[in-house]
Amino acid sequence: MIANGNGTEHELRRDLVKFSKWLYRLGFMPGSSGNLSVRISEDCIVTTPTGCSKYLLQPEDMVLVDLEGKRIAGLKKPTSEIGIHLAIYRSRPDVQAVVHAHPPLATGFACAGRALDEPLCAEAIMMLGPVPLAPYATTGTENLAASLQSLIPDHTAILMANHGAVTYGESLLDAFLKMETVEHFAHICLVAHQLGSARPLGQPAVGELLEARAKYLKNAR
Ligand SMILES: [Zn+2]
Repeated sequence: MIANGNGTEHELRRDLVKFSKWLYRLGFMPGSSGNLSVRISEDCIVTTPTGCSKYLLQPEDMVLVDLEGKRIAGLKKPTSEIGIHLAIYRSRPDVQAVVHAHPPLATGFACAGRALDEPLCAEAIMMLGPVPLAPYATTGTENLAASLQSLIPDHTAILMANHGAVTYGESLLDAFLKMETVEHFAHICLVAHQLGSARPLGQPAVGELLEARAKYLKNAR
């Protein structure tokens, strides 16, 4: 049984089931889409399997892989989008968990070629910072991870053009909350623009919020 600061392997498998169901119920992972993972040791992660509804997963369905994507344990195959997760874990040793989902409003922005980087909402600036849009790449190929690579170091939430979104952080809960906030912010942006009078914050206010965010992140470490 492997264990780290995130919990025992058994606890992490159960956490993956819990957050998979939560994301499914929010409509962020319809069909068999979306995938989650959590770091179980420095060079090993536990992830959701490919081709399964996130509502029906069981702890024993999860798959252990190393950071090269080689399966270490599990009867099923890991998610076909494992490359997204591995690219993030390899670039960011501080990251403990990754969530990739297709929430409809944020994915709508990604399909319209729009990043979520307009400073419309104080909460989103504090929690996420600007959410960039990675260029399109075919799912399941190495190009998908490559399309994210330059954005991974300076962000923890990224839109993926014509595809979806990925968030990551210090725990599964943290990555989940970021995904929920991305979708909420997309909703707010859509409404503000539909109303026809979106009023982005000016540079001084954005600067103050980013300063407060930097302090918050430093204290959280
Ligand atoms: Zn996807």
